[in-house]
Amino acid sequence: MECIGRRPEELHTIVATHYHHDHTGNVGRLRDQTPARLYVHAADAPFVDGRRPWREFHGPFARLARRLSPQPYHLRVDDELQEGDVVRSLGGLAVVHLPGHTPGNIGLWSRPLGVMFTGDALMNVMGLRLPLAASSHDMAQARDSLRKLARFGFEHALLGHGAPVLGRASEKIAALASRW
Ligand SMILES: [Zn+2]
Ligand SMILES: [Zn+2]
Repeated sequence: MECIGRRPEELHTIVATHYHHDHTGNVGRLRDQTPARLYVHAADAPFVDGRRPWREFHGPFARLARRLSPQPYHLRVDDELQEGDVVRSLGGLAVVHLPGHTPGNIGLWSRPLGVMFTGDALMNVMGLRLPLAASSHDMAQARDSLRKLARFGFEHALLGHGAPVLGRASEKIAALASRW
């Protein structure tokens, strides 16, 4: 934060797009050093605060993933989000529920800026594609969520993994979703 000229006390809001540790693993330390509140979709909150066990990875890398993955943790969730909620402290980002990768994966949409944060609803690794089945809860639901995502009009998409999609992003996602 100091690199961009901000002080830790200024961090007031953390929205986790879903519970996976690559998206929430540093929240505990940030909490120790900032006054930030943590927002998570209601369907993923039980995985963040320890009420539900994490889903195990499966597939060829399951054993390796189990060894490298941290144990589930117990983080307090300050606010549980639902479809259509607006996070006013972040300039009015609207919550779009995009389940499948996890039950509570969300997108965050800024209509005025034409920008969508997609969480892990899709990734841009060797091209635009669905999230990995090995780390996802329900791939049929993930496909439905991509179709839903494509119906929002946005120019740019900022993804959890891979380069941002700059220009005509919702059209490109619609093209991907039309493949199945
Ligand atoms: Zn994930
Ligand atoms: Zn991720």
